[in-house]
Amino acid sequence: MTDAELKDLDREVKKLKRIASEWASQLHDLVEDKLPAGYLEIQGDGVMDAYTALTRGGAPYTPTFVTDLNQKTCIGCGRCFKVCPRDVFELVERDEDEIDEDMDDDQMSVMSLKNALDCIGCGSCARVCPKGCHTHQALPVAT
Ligand code: SF4
Ligand code: SF4
Repeated sequence: MTDAELKDLDREVKKLKRIASEWASQLHDLVEDKLPAGYLEIQGDGVMDAYTALTRGGAPYTPTFVTDLNQKTCIGCGRCFKVCPRDVFELVERDEDEIDEDMDDDQMSVMSLKNALDCIGCGSCARVCPKGCHTHQALPVAT
């Protein structure tokens, strides 16, 4: 193999390494995002039934618990924080790398899930959010 061919091969290996590393990083992020909700979905060796409750009048209903909050669409208005009866949310500073120049000063803060396991699944946060940031799911109780 000539020196030029060796150099080409070296360049190709470096390029493929870089691509592999980017894919590994994306895979890592995907697993990290899915873990909290995935843990709640899977209990023991099978999937358990979603928790159901009764109204005072005895009618059954299924709470849907908050499992995610899309910080990319959140405008930090605080409506979900104010309406939540269980102190599930916390307003935090946006990460530097998420700030872009089109954002106003009041978009420097973003809502986050402080304690999702305190959620009672009332759905109020989703009803008041102007940006549809919340994801809810019917789930078994996390024990
Ligand atoms: S569903 Fe109800 S308890 Fe749960 S986070 Fe939203 S407002 Fe709070
Ligand atoms: S109501 Fe929606 S937009 Fe407003 S802070 Fe909560 S998640 Fe963000």
